Amino acid sequence: MEWIDAHCHLHDPWFTHSDISDLESQFIENNIKYIINCASEPKHYDFVTHTAKQDRFYITLGIQPTIALDAKHMNLLQMYGNYIDILKDKFVGIGEVGLDYYWVKDEKQREIQREVFTQIIKLANELNQKLIIHSRKAETDCLTLLEKYAQVPVLLHSFDGNLKETERAMDLGYKISIPTNLTIRKNRRKTAIRAGLENIMLETDSPFCAVSEDIKRNDPSQIPIAGKYLVKLFELPIEEISHRTTQNAVEYYKLSNIT
Ligand SMILES: [Zn+2]
Repeated sequence: MEWIDAHCHLHDPWFTHSDISDLESQFIENNIKYIINCASEPKHYDFVTHTAKQDRFYITLGIQPTIALDAKHMNLLQMYGNYIDILKDKFVGIGEVGLDYYWVKDEKQREIQREVFTQIIKLANELNQKLIIHSRKAETDCLTLLEKYAQVPVLLHSFDGNLKETERAMDLGYKISIPTNLTIRKNRRKTAIRAGLENIMLETDSPFCAVSEDIKRNDPSQIPIAGKYLVKLFELPIEEISHRTTQNAVEYYKLSNIT
């Protein structure tokens, strides 16, 4: 029985390289086969790229919506081109990218977010790279832009939309990664059920989204706890939950297959 953490942030300021080495024994103990390590700002790209040297790690690089204004002045095509050259098949997607109306209330800044997001979706099409989406209090606008422009596979990470938005995402053929805090957040559980086991994978979003408020820094070894919670939700054996969520992540990110 093996698990995948489909989205997390194992980098500074939360993790040092030696913290990550220290966690290795827990990854083995908890059967964490693969970790999709995400840097959502260029200042973390080099750290995360370094982690790709380990077999267990695959990488996604994003531009989080709160830095959309800076991204307007970046040469994204060149930047992504360079990292894809370095990382080769360890680079598995562009993200997280998207819209965040929770932190950004100003309409002009939200407009910039939409502009940059649109630009990034088109870039993903051009580079033929999968998208990993962050959307906070902006689900409808996010889905509208994705529906209009995205020609590549889409994973909605920690998606917190309502029933209608989740159904719309499923109609569009998107996947959803459910964070470990489904143990304490009802809407995460509802999303998992609405999306169905065939469309979900598990993520920790480390260092965030821990299974309990008492855990200050989440890490990928917590994935099986979320898996056990899905056993209750779907009334299926743990082996089935592990197999299905792991296969969904393997297929989405096109990782080496697991026997
Ligand atoms: Zn994240």
